[in-house]
Amino acid sequence: MGIEGRFAYESFRPGQKELAQRVYEACLGGEILIAEAMSGFGKTAAVLTGALSAAEETGCKVIYACRTKRQINRVVEEIAKLQRTHSFKAASMLSKFDYCLLRRGRVVPQESFGWYCSFNVSNNLCSYFLNVSLTKEFDRLVGGVLQSTPTQSELMTESETAHVCPYEVVRLAMVQAGVAVVPYQYAFDPRAAPVLFDRNSVDRQKTALVIDEAHNLRDFFRGLHSATLTLDQVRGAIGEAESMLMEEAALSLKALAQTLENIMTESKGWLLDRASVLDRFRSEHGTVWLQNLAFELSASSGAAWGSVVYERRLPSLILRVGEFLVKLSSSTRSLLVTWQNTLGLVDPNPVEDVAQRLSEFRCAVLLSATVNPSSVFARSVGLDPFKVSTYEVSSEPMVTVRTAVDTGTSTRYKLRSPEMYSKISDRVAAVINSTGSGVGVFAPSYSVLDAIFEMVSKRVPGRHMVSEAPGLSNEKATEVFDSFMAEDDSVLFAVQGGRFSEGEDFDRGAMGSVVVVGLALPPPSPLLYAEYTCLKRAGETESYLMLSRLPALRRAFQAAGRHVRSPGKRGLVFFLDERFGTAAAVELMPSWLKKDLVVGDLSPDSISSLSHDFWGSRG
Ligand code: SF4
Repeated sequence: MGIEGRFAYESFRPGQKELAQRVYEACLGGEILIAEAMSGFGKTAAVLTGALSAAEETGCKVIYACRTKRQINRVVEEIAKLQRTHSFKAASMLSKFDYCLLRRGRVVPQESFGWYCSFNVSNNLCSYFLNVSLTKEFDRLVGGVLQSTPTQSELMTESETAHVCPYEVVRLAMVQAGVAVVPYQYAFDPRAAPVLFDRNSVDRQKTALVIDEAHNLRDFFRGLHSATLTLDQVRGAIGEAESMLMEEAALSLKALAQTLENIMTESKGWLLDRASVLDRFRSEHGTVWLQNLAFELSASSGAAWGSVVYERRLPSLILRVGEFLVKLSSSTRSLLVTWQNTLGLVDPNPVEDVAQRLSEFRCAVLLSATVNPSSVFARSVGLDPFKVSTYEVSSEPMVTVRTAVDTGTSTRYKLRSPEMYSKISDRVAAVINSTGSGVGVFAPSYSVLDAIFEMVSKRVPGRHMVSEAPGLSNEKATEVFDSFMAEDDSVLFAVQGGRFSEGEDFDRGAMGSVVVVGLALPPPSPLLYAEYTCLKRAGETESYLMLSRLPALRRAFQAAGRHVRSPGKRGLVFFLDERFGTAAAVELMPSWLKKDLVVGDLSPDSISSLSHDFWGSRG
């Protein structure tokens, strides 16, 4: 079936058909394609249409990898629309933790969930697992998943009724699905990817891989290969071991804490010689002491037994120490660094083998709303700009956005003060009071968000305000989102780079204006410094741009695009930080953001009049 016949909507938006066609060609030709399309353009529908058409011709599968669960939901919604026009099998898969029915009502930390599940399964204690494959109901559920891609809660409810493990339902559905929507982990994490590619026998060479919000890839791989451990965490693990009567483990952890403390105290700089540290453990504790301790802690079945039998909280710090020691003793390419009673393992080139990994697939399509400059983008995710294709959807005519950069404020660390926060709050309040519809306020960190939230609330009495908090569960995030959408003129406070600043649909014109407060540069750390140094040694001349400025600007631009959900949308964007007004920052702005740009020291009064002038009247 061709692209036009497959498309789920009555007509294409400008640029959608061309993007679908380009993705189709890339999938047929086995290319690595970087595709840029602005937020709200409808790229998911276009990309799915192109990839599915090519997959049908070549007998391939499509794997659509997303960064967050909420982004997965959006892709699943598009798939459901496509399935209504042309039937095909699809499935989405989250983590076991997300699906587990047995853990409900119990305190099972995510870090130690692997223990919990394997303990219950291997000891025949999970009836949801025992029922798998034994019932016709199970087969019916798998068939239903493939035809209608249910939401997580729908699947959980149906699986509960049939008394089977929902994760096993979707895992089996994955084998038969033509399109699989998964978190990045199932595509790249060596601990999760075997579920898809080995246990489910998915052949990478017969798979078209689509990577959504691909500008996050470097962060993702950095997270995969890096690990940190603080002395407080080791002490916490000693407490856990003692409370679970694991006397030998507690003694070993005390010895570990002493050696680590000595190493940190004696170190003369942030970089440690990993080999010397391992030698020290050998000479002080014995040849295989560290490896044995790492194994004992990371696979501590005794602790798992005790926790499950006595219904106690599973010990997450013991596991964390164990996993750090496993990486310390086995990871050959990581650097060992130390600062403030913390040890860190950092891979100085986390994207070293990304090109190789992508080449194992039949083709790969990397999607992002912020690719510019494309050569730096390609290098930042480990690709040779001369060996990949790029495609940009022209977004100029689609939206009417006025952008204002305030050079009178900044969240630079040395400029942060109660006076600066008050100044920022005055300006944010001016935007809110002059916008009749919803407003999104995106701070660079939770500390800045907390500092201005109260101040702004007092300046905008009567407005419904909701706020993102660190570590929000999916359910809590949905509550915050629904609460924002429930009223026409709500205000959302969130952080740049957080779950509400990317891939979230504030449709129906729910967000009229966006305020981006400050530039979210990553805080300096030995981990980051090690990565800079490695890039410089490899001849990269734009390492600061690649690792700090560009990711921070991307987060800001992504947040700025939250209010744009459809063509014809009008909206105001305010950047409150003088660093957005530099020529270099403006140069990197997406074209739709700088079509109508005002830069200056914007008082609250000038913000109000700019806003009223744009909207024609209040809101
Ligand atoms: S098999 Fe499924 S229901 Fe049982 S413990 Fe594991 S994830 Fe939970």
